[in-house]
Amino acid sequence: TVGAVVIDQEGRLAAATSTGGTVNKMRGRIGDSSVVGAGTFADKNVAVSTTGHGEEFLRRAIAARVACQYEFFSNPDISQICKNIVNIDMKDKLAGLIAVDKNGNIGAETNAKMFYGSYKNGVITADIIDR
Ligand code: ASP
Repeated sequence: TVGAVVIDQEGRLAAATSTGGTVNKMRGRIGDSSVVGAGTFADKNVAVSTTGHGEEFLRRAIAARVACQYEFFSNPDISQICKNIVNIDMKDKLAGLIAVDKNGNIGAETNAKMFYGSYKNGVITADIIDR
């Protein structure tokens, strides 16, 4: 998967996700990546891109779930929301999330291995999560 989440100078959020799908996938399978609310989502609060077991991202509307939790909590922490969704909601499935919120805060979590980077105020950072 290659995913991107961005916020521009006016605070507009966008998300994109690209994938080759899963190994030995059924002919005609449509994964979660292209389905808004499953593998990809953006609204006025957050942008989300995901990787992992697509069928479960579809069933559980995971990308939209990030946005719902963000909107529901009175003082939302996008990093903690990503951690909770990967480690609680998706604990039984392969999962990874990246997200950015309307304040430019970044969330990233996986229960497998994920490389991610960010560009903020002229500073590039890169990190790897390897569980
Ligand atoms: N989520 C993708 C799918 O199930 C696989 C991936 O790129 O992680 O199609």
